[in-house]
Amino acid sequence: MLADLHIHTTFSDGVYTPEQIIAQARASGITALAITDHDNIQAYDRASRTIHSRHLDLQLIRGVEIDTDYKGRDVHVLGYHFDPENRALLQAMTWTRTGRIARIRKIIEKVNGLGYPLTFAEVRQEANGSKSLGRPHIARVLVKKGLFSHTQAVFDALIASGRPAYCRQVKLLPQEAVALLHGAGGLAVLAHPAEIGNPELAEELLDTVPFDGLEVWHPSVLQEHPHHDWLQTARDHGLLTSGGSDLHGNPGRFPRHLGEFPVSYQDVAGIVSGKRP
Ligand code: AMP
Ligand code: FE
Ligand code: FE
Ligand code: ZN
Repeated sequence: MLADLHIHTTFSDGVYTPEQIIAQARASGITALAITDHDNIQAYDRASRTIHSRHLDLQLIRGVEIDTDYKGRDVHVLGYHFDPENRALLQAMTWTRTGRIARIRKIIEKVNGLGYPLTFAEVRQEANGSKSLGRPHIARVLVKKGLFSHTQAVFDALIASGRPAYCRQVKLLPQEAVALLHGAGGLAVLAHPAEIGNPELAEELLDTVPFDGLEVWHPSVLQEHPHHDWLQTARDHGLLTSGGSDLHGNPGRFPRHLGEFPVSYQDVAGIVSGKRP
């Protein structure tokens, strides 16, 4: 049995709708899944409706991915099984989504300054109703205009961290995101620790912030040099283990389709069940 606890949809910066995600889960033998859009939880209801109306044997777990900043690095916090009506959590997500809009406008100005034509209206149209604007939306517009061959090339040239059009975003601290998730009765998981790019810093976070789990299985681990044993790290800290594909559907980065990065159900069963370690 397979699971995937890290998936993006059109409600943030993913390419596929919740309905398309459900269809892909069925086709790939996934039995438990969580949609973890950036700062948005609205895809759950659409996916849940699809599962129920078709009487599908799929376990859908409520999820979200919250961007935070720790000592100048991007630290992503995954949340599961929280109360979707929790006021503090909803307010925090509204705040970060508003911050995203301001940041995207700043990035567009920088992209323009570098000589590439791009408007906020174009990015908004590409996001097609997404409530959570992100850099992949910018990348896709520039690809569609024929200015770059694929979205990864846009990141590498312009908008990845450290590139000339990059702008930081106002963000919560990891401990704030974890406290919000716990306050809403949820579990908090440190996402893709390999992407933090500094295993010591990840360890420091796990020592000081009350995470419940660690995302041990993620495509970024396959590209990590030198390889770090995140499963051992999870065990050392008494954490639940989690995993997922981080599917967005953008060519060139991570899997294109659900099931291409298989995660065993057993390995993430603790998160699926929703019990604190
Ligand atoms: P944002 O939410 O605007 O900070 O954008 C973050 C998203 O951009 C991630 O979830 C990925 O989908 C994508 N992304 C981040 N860094 C890169 C990178 N170096 N190359 C390609 N895509 C990236
Ligand atoms: Fe993303
Ligand atoms: Fe992430
Ligand atoms: Zn993600």
